[in-house]
Amino acid sequence: PAARADVSQWPTASSPDAMSDPATEAFVTELMSRMTVEEKVGQLIQADIASIKPEDLLTYPLGSILAGGNSSPGGNERASAQDWVDLAREFRAAAAARPGAQVPLIYGIDAVHGHNNVVGATIFPHNIGLGAARDPDLIRRIGVATALEVAVTGADWTFGPTLAVPRDDRWGRAYEGYGEDPEIARAYAGPMTLGLQGELRADGPLAPGHIPGSAKHFLADGGTQDGKDQGNFVGSERELIDVHLGGYPAAIDAGVLSIMASFSSWNGVKHSGNATILTDVLRGPLGFDGFVVSDWNAHGQLAGCSNESCPQAINAGIDMLMAPDSWKPLYENTLAQVRSGEIPMARVDEAVRRILRAKVKAGLFEEARPVEGQLQHLGSPEHRALAREAVRKSLVLIKNEGEVLPIRAGARVLVVGTAADDIGQASGGWTLTWQGTGNSNADFPNGQSIWGGIEEAVEAGGGQATLSPDGSFTEKPDVAIVVFGETPYAEFQGDIDTLDFVPTGPLEQLRQLRAAGIPTVAVFLSGRPMWTNPEINQSDAFVAAWLPGSEGGGVADVLIGDADGRPRHDFTGTLSFSWPKDATGTPLNRGQEGYDPQFAYGYGLSYARPGTVAVLSEESGVTDMGSNVDRYFVDGRFVAPWALMLNDAGGQNKPNTEASAVSPRGGVTMRVIDDLAQESGRQFAFSGNGPATIEIWGTGVDLTRQANGEMALSFRYRVDQTPQGRVVLALNGGGVDITDLLKGA
Ligand code: BGC
Repeated sequence: PAARADVSQWPTASSPDAMSDPATEAFVTELMSRMTVEEKVGQLIQADIASIKPEDLLTYPLGSILAGGNSSPGGNERASAQDWVDLAREFRAAAAARPGAQVPLIYGIDAVHGHNNVVGATIFPHNIGLGAARDPDLIRRIGVATALEVAVTGADWTFGPTLAVPRDDRWGRAYEGYGEDPEIARAYAGPMTLGLQGELRADGPLAPGHIPGSAKHFLADGGTQDGKDQGNFVGSERELIDVHLGGYPAAIDAGVLSIMASFSSWNGVKHSGNATILTDVLRGPLGFDGFVVSDWNAHGQLAGCSNESCPQAINAGIDMLMAPDSWKPLYENTLAQVRSGEIPMARVDEAVRRILRAKVKAGLFEEARPVEGQLQHLGSPEHRALAREAVRKSLVLIKNEGEVLPIRAGARVLVVGTAADDIGQASGGWTLTWQGTGNSNADFPNGQSIWGGIEEAVEAGGGQATLSPDGSFTEKPDVAIVVFGETPYAEFQGDIDTLDFVPTGPLEQLRQLRAAGIPTVAVFLSGRPMWTNPEINQSDAFVAAWLPGSEGGGVADVLIGDADGRPRHDFTGTLSFSWPKDATGTPLNRGQEGYDPQFAYGYGLSYARPGTVAVLSEESGVTDMGSNVDRYFVDGRFVAPWALMLNDAGGQNKPNTEASAVSPRGGVTMRVIDDLAQESGRQFAFSGNGPATIEIWGTGVDLTRQANGEMALSFRYRVDQTPQGRVVLALNGGGVDITDLLKGA
């Protein structure tokens, strides 16, 4: 299929050219008449603060800087808010001090769930949780708060909202989308844009405390095959329009000042180089008159381009190139390409006009920055209360048997799991650094963990809350809340092959608590729905809490009732992503043929609307016979003569691992020894009693040939006892029953 659009198919803007009012155009025209070609080309280039120094701007007339997900003042992710203000001022001052300078910088940052790169900011739930809330006015208020927190630290612009419509939950960015169905992005794009920017005005800039947004990633970033980040959407123009265009028309109508082009492709053509989409469609029927920024070195991925040179991207319709580290050669090469005519001057003028127009609208030409430095707004009580409201509204109650929830405030509550007191894990990727794993609660000085919120609520009600990361207890509690889930990831780091929730520790904790006769409540933290049937079966109540952010108190508000056990707040969230019935990872979206979810889009119980969940099947649907499985089993022994890499849920490869599985008479033993220092001593030893009662869910197996010719096997593993006595090893998303093979020993 082709990647050319028929513009007549596309919806037309209801307010095209929203920001091209006569006064702004006259100002820009006059300014451009005084700009040199160097200054104009400089407007097209954006550098990252990790790769440019303020003094570089004394020489190079760049129009923009950004702080990418891993960038912070002085490379210190724990930099103070004042450091952020100082950094912004230094860059601005240097840009203004360049002889002849006439255009202010625009400084962008990823404030995608609050001002998430800055210590002390309010961290809102990621978009997946906001989608579950189905509350456009909440979204607008979050936009207002986020813009203010960004503006006080001196940054000008956020790379949000993300309007992706994720169609395959295996995508590592699924959580950045509001929902699998475009209806939510359509409902949210306008309010979020208005929240961030306020109303565009013909007679002046955005009101103080508001900043430009950037709707991203245009287009169909959520539609790539197998959910591969930066991958390829294979589909018709109709699907592009009906599904993935989603919230863009509403964002444009609301006056969004910029749009970020997607890394991904449509039918093999990268969006960053596709004039049909970026120019014919976006500037035609969609009527967008702000500027298009490309994604992080995305231009370098176009055929014939490198990070240092890409006239194709500009000619296709990119107005500003995000060239984090390659800005200097890119600026010089682009200048040469403009001088030689390879990039037409008219195209440069058009891009510069759009950028200047947005800079005027954003108020960057104004001397005064009324809110900058007012750091009391960062993580303010009002913003935290708003985030807490968002957390309450984002929770989806999957199961509540025996009405274990709400918990009476006077109860003895055991809070289990290392995730319970970990704000970094609750915040997920795009928080401080996008690995996120290094964050501790001390990095969220204004935040409260889920445990902290529960403790407060239970103690206020005269009960007793105990934190027990490993699940042990001395005095039997009335109820246990087990908090667990995915560890943080961002972008392709989070791409997975199947939706199996891999770690077995939480399931074991749930089992042991129940075996001790304790009612269990599971609070699941994740960036997507996952196959968690065993965990759901072992819980009396199961709550999908997504990635709630820094205000864990919102979880307690709903889970912990009053002293009589009456709810203080009810569950109102409903699934904005379908919950899978098996782990295979087959895309599952409302309205598709053969749609057969475990819990459908829109599902969500509440105290007012209780329901019952039957015991769920723990078959995860792995059926396909993997090839060559018998090669890994010699005389019933699972041998791995090659380097075996255990790929944990966190996505880290752990080399130097040995694995063996032997099948003694009457049972099966599977042993995995991981001898990495980090994990040293970790052993999984399982012995069957009588009939084999061990299940191995190894999913996402990858065989790769090493440089030395040996094969490396990496797999996500899960070892479960099953009543069926089946032993299953899944390979490459398929699987094979190896029970007999092992018995044959
Ligand atoms: C991401 C964008 C982000 C940009 C700047 C890219 O890798 O895809 O979403 O805005 O980095 O940090």
